[in-house]
This record gives sequence, structure tokens and C-alpha cells, in this order.
Amino acid sequence: MHDNAIKMNKIVALLLLFLGGQAIGGQALVENLRFWSAPDHTRLVFDTSDPVSHKLFTLSNPNRLVIDLQNARLNGALPKLGSHPLISRLRSASRDDKDLRVVLDLKTAVKPKSFELKPNRQYGHRLVLDLYQSEESPQQQSGKRVVKSISDSGYRDVVVAIDPGHGGEDPGAKGRNGTYEKEVVLEIARKLAALINKESGMKAVLIRDGDYYLGLRKRMSLAREHRADLFVSIHADAFKDSRAHGSSVYTLSNRGASSEAARWLANRENSSDLIGGVTLEDKDDVLASVLLDLSQTATQQASHQVANNLLSNLRQVGKTHKNTVQKAGFLVLKSPDVPSILVETAFITNPTEEKRLKSSSHQNKLARAMLDGIKDYFNQSPPPGTLLAKAAPRKHVISRGDTLSQIAEQYQVTLNSLRQVNGLSSNSIRIGQVLKIPGT
Ligand SMILES: [Zn+2]
Repeated sequence: MHDNAIKMNKIVALLLLFLGGQAIGGQALVENLRFWSAPDHTRLVFDTSDPVSHKLFTLSNPNRLVIDLQNARLNGALPKLGSHPLISRLRSASRDDKDLRVVLDLKTAVKPKSFELKPNRQYGHRLVLDLYQSEESPQQQSGKRVVKSISDSGYRDVVVAIDPGHGGEDPGAKGRNGTYEKEVVLEIARKLAALINKESGMKAVLIRDGDYYLGLRKRMSLAREHRADLFVSIHADAFKDSRAHGSSVYTLSNRGASSEAARWLANRENSSDLIGGVTLEDKDDVLASVLLDLSQTATQQASHQVANNLLSNLRQVGKTHKNTVQKAGFLVLKSPDVPSILVETAFITNPTEEKRLKSSSHQNKLARAMLDGIKDYFNQSPPPGTLLAKAAPRKHVISRGDTLSQIAEQYQVTLNSLRQVNGLSSNSIRIGQVLKIPGT
């Protein structure tokens, strides 16, 4: 009986939808047009009252892009464009009183990509148009060739990729008072990036720095392009019970890692990507999977270590949701050779935490706690070749056969200074003892 009631409701809803469409002469209404500008593309989103079929073609001399929306008309006027890097003018006309033609006058040739989206919680039917610049200018290309910044000393900075979740069409979770996840995580990410850039030996890269959407694979590949030593994705949590609260830190689950390994192995012929500095392209199946496994294991251990450091620092800013690092199959954490973590800063669905997430001083506290966790991690395990590795105090663990004078010779320090920094009154040492090595 309950089922029947639901079925009846569905039929009524469908009928209303049908009548609704008929009421405006069967034409879909284009109700709004929104723009999102990302560094490498512009996204146009047409909000429509009903699903709309469309055709797309480009014209050159001058460059134009034409979109024909079938059986549609404009509700009101097209929005003002303002100054735009790709589009100089936007116009529209009705064709045969039936279709809507929208023409974009372009400043440069573009590669368009379009698709239709079904309604979600946030928006109704949408037609999405992504415009990519078709020829990259030499400037952009040279900007893309990323070299690790090497200082005069020959040592480089560690690179931290900071990834504010969601963006553009994808607002993420929403608080009861209207706060969007995509906005607060961007602010926290920018604050963290500024703090990192103030540290000597560290450099931040913001994976998203504006209100636009980036696919998860794109986020990973941007981090790889910048040769990141660490990837930190920043989010805000949501739950139906508004009492849920506290921050959490995630690393990739084992299951997530093995499904990703399968993907890398399957695709390795078409990919020249390096995994942990080696190519898998020319390796046989067994060797490739062993190399990948080694890299993934090391990466997962490092991810876990940095996640623990962050969690214990976040604990000092406020409550944590769970006491330990959590594991999940998040796609964005799947780089096999970049230690990656995801931080749920707080619950945006908890009104108290929503308020805090919006407060600039609390954002600073969160960013500071994350910075401290990241610093702890890099101080414990500085990547070789970095300024941090150079600055880190050197240590030597005594093994069988070691003598103090031979150690002094190995590190090119004097026997005296070696004894002094370690407070040794004689030359006797024991296996397993850890000696500090004085700086040169
Ligand atoms: Zn999120």
C-alpha cells in the first residue's frame, strides 16, 4: 500500500512536469547563464527549465563559437560579460521561433567541450560548455615546465601542494546558515599556503586558487607537475546529525591503493609518467608491479606519518572527530608516489563549527595547526636534496665495528667536536647508540 502511494505520487509529479513543459509552449527556458574562470579553461553553465539538446560548432575569421539549443528560448537577457580573457562578446537570437542560438565572439581559437547535467540538490537541468585555449602560447608552455626550485647551494625547497576541495559548479557541503564548503576551504588553504611560503626551505602550490571546478585526476596531475613532496586536500565534513563535530585526517585505504595500482599497470604503455622517479613503461609485468608496490608502500607510510602529525596538532585547536587517522578510498589521495592526506577541518553541518569555519581567526588557527604538523613531518623525514635535509641535524647509529675516530673521519669532523656535542668523556661507544654529528 505504501508502495502504491509512492507510485501515485510519481505519476502526479510526472504529469505536472509534462504540463509544466506544455504551459510554455513545449520550449525549455534558459533561465540563467553562469561563468567560472579557471586558469586553463572557462566554464559556461546554462541553467534550463528542462533537458535541452544542443549542437555546437566553431567558425574562424573571426573566431566564433555557436551553440544551438533546440526547442528553447531565453528567459530575460543574457548576463553582462565584463572583460573576459577568451570571449569578447555574447549574443543570442531566436531561430524559426523555435531554437535558441547563442554566439560567442572569441578573442582566440578555443577547443570547446560540452555536456548536459541532470538536476542535483543545488541546481536544475544544466548545459555545460568548457572552453580550452586550443593553442598554448609559448609563455604558458614555459610556465608549465616545472623545475624544482634549486637555490645557489644546490638544495631545493620541499613543495607542498594544497588542494582546496570542490569549487565552481560543485559547492561541496553546505551549512545551515548558507556557508559553502568550497569557500571556507579555499580561505583556509590560502592561509596555509601563505604560512608555508614564509618558512625557509618550504614552498606551497595552491591546486585551486579561485571559484572553479577541477576534476580529481586533474588535481593529482597538477601536484605531480609541480613535483610535490606532499599533497594536502582540505575539506569540511557534513552529516545529517548536526551534533557531529570535530576534525578528521584521512589517508588512502589499502583497497584504494591496490585498485589504483591495477590502473597504473594497465595504463603504463600509454603513460610516460614516472613513479617514484622510474618509468614503468619498459618494465615487464612482474618488475613493474614490484616497483609500483615499493613506491606505494613507502608513500602510504609517509602519508600515515604526516597524517598523525597533523592530527595531533589539530587536537590542540579543537576537538577531533575520531582519535586516529582514518582510511578511505578517496580518489584524490591515490598518487602512488606523492604522500597524500585529506583533512576534514570541521563539520559545516554543525552550527557552532560552521560559525568557526567562517571566522578568519579560527581559519588561521587551523592553518597554523596544519603547518605545524607538516613541519614536524618534514623535520622528521626531510626528502633528500632539500634545504630541510641539509639543515636537519645529522645522526649516526652505532653498529658493530664502529669506532669514534672512524665515524669522525666518515663525516669529516674532528674527534673532539664529536665527543663534545655528544657529551662523551671517553671514546667508548655501544651498538645502537645514536650520535649527533656536529655541523660543518
Ligand atoms: Zn568535501
